[in-house]
Amino acid sequence: MKEGRREREETRIAERLSFRWRALDESLLIEAVPPKLLMLELTNACNLKCVMCRNPAMVRRKGMMAPEIIEKTVSQAAEMGIEDVALFTTGESLLHKGLLDAIRTVRNAGLSCYLTSNGLLLNPPLAEALCLSGLASFKFSIDGATREEYEAIRVNGSFEKLIENVRLLRTVRDRTGSKMRIICAAVVMRRNEAHLADFRDLFEPMCDEILFSFLGNLGGRIEEEKSSFFQKKAAIRPCRLLWDRIVVNYDGTVTACCIDFDAELVYGDIRKDPLVRIWNNAVIREWRRRHLAGNLQGIPLCDGCDHPALADPEELLRLQEASRKGREETERKEITGGAAGITEGK
Ligand code: SF4
Repeated sequence: MKEGRREREETRIAERLSFRWRALDESLLIEAVPPKLLMLELTNACNLKCVMCRNPAMVRRKGMMAPEIIEKTVSQAAEMGIEDVALFTTGESLLHKGLLDAIRTVRNAGLSCYLTSNGLLLNPPLAEALCLSGLASFKFSIDGATREEYEAIRVNGSFEKLIENVRLLRTVRDRTGSKMRIICAAVVMRRNEAHLADFRDLFEPMCDEILFSFLGNLGGRIEEEKSSFFQKKAAIRPCRLLWDRIVVNYDGTVTACCIDFDAELVYGDIRKDPLVRIWNNAVIREWRRRHLAGNLQGIPLCDGCDHPALADPEELLRLQEASRKGREETERKEITGGAAGITEGK
């Protein structure tokens, strides 16, 4: 009886959601509100050749993001209302000599700043500087629970050095009283899926959070390393990456996807157009329209991607509605404050 009531309730909710989705003005989703997250590819160079990563096979020229591009992008992002900046995408950000300056630029703009790294290039002075930089979190990409597993996945890495550096950052963080969270992460794949509990047991005492995520096929370009637990999404759904973030490559080009190693999904260039105009330009609007229609054919990478970022339309709708409400609230405040400002200016 209880079970029957639950089923009826679930059906009722599903019908209501499906009605809302059909009734949705699609243009609301195609012309998207600014997202919360900006990702900056400080560099596409890396010191490792991990088996599940497309970085080693990348044909794009390796480079470092120039300070002018960092400053321009961050200041335009702040004007758009972006709140969080992740300083990594396809490469190892500790290779960038201006990493601490980049964090300072983000913090001075009033935005939160995150870093994901293999952590092997950490040293005591850098650990100290990062802990004092205002970085919200430092995530170690680790993947392996033992030396054999780690070094087989993270080719050219040293498990001993990794453990030493996780402990170093934790010690310095605690000594300095920094609020920076330390996260240890594993991408679940065939090679490590049997040892996830060992991973958690080993790293849990050294960090604040353990994070597991599934390896997708990186836009149809990598299949053999995927976990046997990985479930391909049954139906084509829009990918939330086209709505929930802006990704800027080291050279200033703007891509729709943070796994776009060879810049196949570029839809703008910060050196030529303002970020706010790029975010809703004709190219990305067309890709959003086709994602919503379930027609990914011919969109590079997306066509054939089984990345778990594929989202429910309802989730997108909630995202857009929440952002729109926030924006309306801000606009109301600006109208009130703006009138006073004009009077004062005159
Ligand atoms: S569908 Fe795949 S390739 Fe396309 S934006 Fe999403 S994650 Fe990237």
